[in-house]
Amino acid sequence: MLKKDHEFLINLRKKKYQNIVLNKKTISKRNELIKKILNLELNNQKVKSKKNFCCKKNYFKENLINKNFLIFYKKFNVNLKLKDNYNLINFKKKTNKDTCFCSYIHISNFIIKSKKINYVHKLNTILKINDLLILIFNIKKNSHLLDNFKKILLYERKLLKKFI
Ligand SMILES: [Zn+2]
Repeated sequence: MLKKDHEFLINLRKKKYQNIVLNKKTISKRNELIKKILNLELNNQKVKSKKNFCCKKNYFKENLINKNFLIFYKKFNVNLKLKDNYNLINFKKKTNKDTCFCSYIHISNFIIKSKKINYVHKLNTILKINDLLILIFNIKKNSHLLDNFKKILLYERKLLKKFI
């Protein structure tokens, strides 16, 4: 996808979603981007032959549990992104490196299942996570996670319908 199509998302994140009035144009632009992803099919040999690679070892895949995921959920909501590694005792970041695509997929799966977060907060966070996932999705590296990504986009739609 073209960078230009993503500019409004980059701006939303830069402003930390503060004082944002979403207009129809922005919403329809976002819907267009989502539609493109939902329509992506991976039966294209070119994509299939590429190595499916996001990261070798994922901190969240290994360490995210029901007991600590709310801590990362809150961290994401404050910073709009997560780092690649955290201390498991005090949850301070251990690196400045931003984490990768699959981490947000893992945390989204926890958010979707959680009974501790209400739907308003779930929607609020999933919208922000999806904005970021749209921005960092790389078909060569993340194609093996496409189905899961689509599920999260569809979950967002389902939640939105509760409020419209
Ligand atoms: Zn990864």
